[in-house]
Amino acid sequence: MWKLARLNSIKTGIRIPSISHRTPTLIRSYSSGSNELSKFLTETIKATGPIPLGAFMRQCLTNPSAGYYINKDPFGKSGDFITSPEISQMFGELVGVWVLTQWMAQNQPSEFRLVEFGPGRGTLMDDLLRSTRKFAKFDKALKEIYMIEASPTLKETQWSKLCEDEMSETEIGFRSTTRWGTPIYWRENAKEIPDDNIPTFIIAHEFYDALPIYQFEHTKDGWRELLVNSGPPPDNSLLPGTTVLKGTSMENSSLVKKDTEEFHLSIAPSWTPSSKVVPQTHKRYSELPVGSKIEICPEGWEVSSQISSIIGRNGGAAFIVDYGPSDTIPVNTLRGIKDHKLVSPFTAPGKADLSADVDFQAIKVAAEATGGVDVHGPVEQGDWLHSMGIGARASILASKAKDEKAKKRVESEYRRLVEKSGGAMGKIYKVMAIVPEKSPQPVGFGGSVNE
Ligand code: SAH
Repeated sequence: MWKLARLNSIKTGIRIPSISHRTPTLIRSYSSGSNELSKFLTETIKATGPIPLGAFMRQCLTNPSAGYYINKDPFGKSGDFITSPEISQMFGELVGVWVLTQWMAQNQPSEFRLVEFGPGRGTLMDDLLRSTRKFAKFDKALKEIYMIEASPTLKETQWSKLCEDEMSETEIGFRSTTRWGTPIYWRENAKEIPDDNIPTFIIAHEFYDALPIYQFEHTKDGWRELLVNSGPPPDNSLLPGTTVLKGTSMENSSLVKKDTEEFHLSIAPSWTPSSKVVPQTHKRYSELPVGSKIEICPEGWEVSSQISSIIGRNGGAAFIVDYGPSDTIPVNTLRGIKDHKLVSPFTAPGKADLSADVDFQAIKVAAEATGGVDVHGPVEQGDWLHSMGIGARASILASKAKDEKAKKRVESEYRRLVEKSGGAMGKIYKVMAIVPEKSPQPVGFGGSVNE
């Protein structure tokens, strides 16, 4: 059963109590003036009128010259946020074990492909390959790896982490060979994954949250789209900032001071092509009462449908990790993140990471509509990691630690990944699996390794 989206965005999606009661900080503009992307967007809006939020988000994140992800490595302490694979090697290792269990559950196909969407620094893939290499049959069956990555900078980081061979350019992307001798290819678009009878195991860790979203409101005159207009918002009051987060390192709740913003959202006075079509695509939207607000990520549907069709036809599995509500539609969750703090998405475009809650049920709907697959989850990351044996793995790593400090570090990394209190990652991050239909229940989603 679909649950109705709650009207108040702050109550839906991620809410982190430990953060919400802390002293709010005013976020100041971190750029002294407009940047190139800001000028480009302002000019576009002048010429065409307000633009869809998804178009704005796409420019901010992946504009070929000034998009957030294009020219920088945003991870780690000196970056803007931290992710689970960057916190501990245990994360990628256990994802590797999960892929191994799925490969075993599908009768150990003699050839398979690994695909990762948005591989960041390549850390998850590196930990996964290192941990599964000892399973010789699995290692031998790994035919090739595809990395779906929009950022030239991160492609290079991934290559230097995973490969010793040089990276060569082909007509359709880059290629190299991993340190372990597996061919590895880079593509910019999910559409470029081969669909060819080879079982394909797909990982998407914090990829969906970067896909452009569109916002709509059900008014008494019908659905209306929220569009991005240039200039600060008309009035000068304070808006509550949306909640968290990539990683748990953000300490403060935020109030966004509106006059630092170079853009603002406004409701389209009349219908737009998207408002006519998108909210009608499923009854979970179309049946919402007047007053409802929703966020929709059509690219997320496309990716889900494409990976499901590959898995349904050729075998394999998808493992998706992200943050977002388990069973409601996200509302007003777009957030900017810079220097581990929440910032307005409408200040200095391209300088802050933008992300939005992932609609797990929309992924499920798209996958099931494609057919040939079963969807499991979402389950909370902490539960999944526990069923994968993170406790035992942490104990082994702690016992091998060279000194007390290193031991303490393993313990704190372990806690950071699994804990559920407050804003901890074990609860806000969720995992979902897409497997060929009628496969055994996957491990971590109610199934056991021996099934
Ligand atoms: N999975 C990594 C990185 C997450 S950040 C981790 O968890 O550490 C998001 C990643 O997706 C980055 O690698 C970014 O460059 C990539 N990305 C964002 N939007 C993309 C798009 N539209 N197409 C392909 N890659 C994209």
